[in-house]
Amino acid sequence: MSLHQLIYLSKASRALTSVDFLEILEVAKRNNASLGVTGSLFYNGGWFLQVLEGDVTVINSLYRRIEQDERHQQSQVIFLEPASCRVFSRWTMNMINLEKERDSKYDILVDVIKAATRGGLVEGLSPAVKLLKVFSSDHLFHSAC
Ligand code: FAD
Repeated sequence: MSLHQLIYLSKASRALTSVDFLEILEVAKRNNASLGVTGSLFYNGGWFLQVLEGDVTVINSLYRRIEQDERHQQSQVIFLEPASCRVFSRWTMNMINLEKERDSKYDILVDVIKAATRGGLVEGLSPAVKLLKVFSSDHLFHSAC
């Protein structure tokens, strides 16, 4: 297996309900578990940012399926790199809806998504690298990195 991390940005194609989010999360957890994929999905201001971790062939083909999904559009890969470890080893998929989270520790993630949508940097780093750094050092996530 060649462990890689793929991160993409996409725009929700309509106003999604909490039921939509739950459906996406349930299917993702079920499928990703059988594919050996871990990761996290973030949502803010109508934008998704998703991290997929797993074998490069598996995550590329999973991404090709996800990008066809009508619930989002304008999908673009912003990061695809080999990884020595999984940052989200605990989650087959986790979802953080930043519009619902009031905790200031999530402010940096809002900045990450905003920077990704305008192709900018966050604290001098690409949004994808900043995102992975935030979670690599978050002990709650029991990162294997
Ligand atoms: P099925 O069993 O065929 O369908 C699963 C469920 O999803 C069904 O209840 C179906 O009604 C519903 N569904 C499927 N497509 C739509 C649609 N266009 N509109 C409304 N409901 C629909 N899948 C993963 O496997 N892993 C992921 O990490 C993942 N991340 C996603 C992230 C985002 C932002 C989005 C929008 C989708 C994601 N998906 C993910 C879902 C993916 O796009 C496919 O719908 C799913 O992989 C199909 O799996 P299946 O064939 O087992 O599903």
